[in-house]
Amino acid sequence: MVFQNPKIKKLLEKYSDVWALNHALALLGWDVNTYMPRGAAERRGVAVARLSVLRQKLFLSDEFKSIFREAEKEENLNEYEKGVIRVLKRELEFYEKVPPELLEEEAKVTTKARVVWEKAKEKSDFKSFEPHLEKIVEIEKKKAEYREFDKLYDALLDLFEEGLTSEDVDRMFSQLRIPLSKLFKKILDAGVFPQHHKLEDEKYDKEAMKYLNFLVLEYLGYDFSRGRLDVSTHPFTIDMSLDDVRITTWYHTSDFRRSLGSVVHEFGHALYQLQIDKALAGTPIGTGVSFGIHESQSRFWENMIWRSRAFIDFFYPSMRALLPFLKEYKPEEVYRYFCIVRPEFIRVEADEVHYPLHIILRYEIEKGLIEDSLNVSEIPQVWNEKMEKYVGVAPPNDRLGCLQDVHWSEGYIGYFPTYAIGSILAAQIKKALESELGNLEDLVVKGEFTKIREWLREKIHKWGATLPPKELIKRATGEDMNPKYFLEYLEKKYLA
Ligand code: MG
Repeated sequence: MVFQNPKIKKLLEKYSDVWALNHALALLGWDVNTYMPRGAAERRGVAVARLSVLRQKLFLSDEFKSIFREAEKEENLNEYEKGVIRVLKRELEFYEKVPPELLEEEAKVTTKARVVWEKAKEKSDFKSFEPHLEKIVEIEKKKAEYREFDKLYDALLDLFEEGLTSEDVDRMFSQLRIPLSKLFKKILDAGVFPQHHKLEDEKYDKEAMKYLNFLVLEYLGYDFSRGRLDVSTHPFTIDMSLDDVRITTWYHTSDFRRSLGSVVHEFGHALYQLQIDKALAGTPIGTGVSFGIHESQSRFWENMIWRSRAFIDFFYPSMRALLPFLKEYKPEEVYRYFCIVRPEFIRVEADEVHYPLHIILRYEIEKGLIEDSLNVSEIPQVWNEKMEKYVGVAPPNDRLGCLQDVHWSEGYIGYFPTYAIGSILAAQIKKALESELGNLEDLVVKGEFTKIREWLREKIHKWGATLPPKELIKRATGEDMNPKYFLEYLEKKYLA
């Protein structure tokens, strides 16, 4: 039995109501992004808002808090029980320190800003978005002050990546930025990996593509009795419970790597949730532990497995059977198409080599805003200068530059670094896995996905949020987060 302490058991029993509301909210969220009729949006918004308030009331009720305080005093808790206390304490402290009025204001300001941002982006008009972003920065600074961290930015970063500090990020990004810019340029100059590939223009049959996506998921080991694959505007993964983890993809009818790559990426997220120890179901630790760790799982499957020559070799016969135009292309061609390397203005279109440069730029800007070393009005200019310096291209307008991402308009400052952490950790995890199971590509080419899944389950997935992220990484890979493996991985893959 994972949970033995009677006070923890009582706490978890009470928590089940909160969990049930989370479950309902997740399902409503999935519906909004997949099948909900457009006209239903307004009333759905009301329902979701009321349910969220109800959830918060339950969570912050005197009854729940006193049960928590009692459990917190217990000594000799096991690792799982300690995890429950840690996770709940983080959330309770947040609400105790940050006044509800500020959170209400944040909700109001960001709801408006989100709409303004969408129009501003469309017209490439930063000026119209500027006053809204200024308000958001002020609110986030206040929020950070209330959390009482040593550094303001760290208080925001910690909301997305528990325990991570700007000192950690500075250390890793300074190890990455210049070597990565150089490596990127070297790869472009070598010209082995194309900047454009004819396969990008090949049209595919949507039904056949769907079939291929399902087939690949079957082979990778996605459990369709506990999940679904649907279509949405942007691919995502959402979990209702440990036995209901759904993914989506998109179909553009050409450039098939976008549909398949998203499927494999989201599979990585879903597998994490699906392999959490069942004993943690319905508890606060029955979920992924942080954004960075979650992203490391999706990038591991997308970059290390899907974007490999071994993957192409294993799946080439199925791909060719379903996408007849592939008869004109050898497996090596398909591999190069999957691994196109070219400078992109848009972060989400960026290849795995220069993607982190997009993140470093955003990190430096948002940290500057919170630390008052940069004004909102300076963002477009600084953005373009940094793009030129790091990636080698400056966007022609703000739509393709500083207005491209939704995050800041929603108040998500401190979120971006977790994407780069995903890349860094994916490479570190690959290294650790290979030290035990041997070369990853050798497993992939033989279709030994079970071995890979089991290793990930044992080292990472089964824990859920039991251990804090830094501890989890140390146990799984034997050391702290280290960007050197990411650089080594890229060099070997793209320059060998
Ligand atoms: Mg992701």
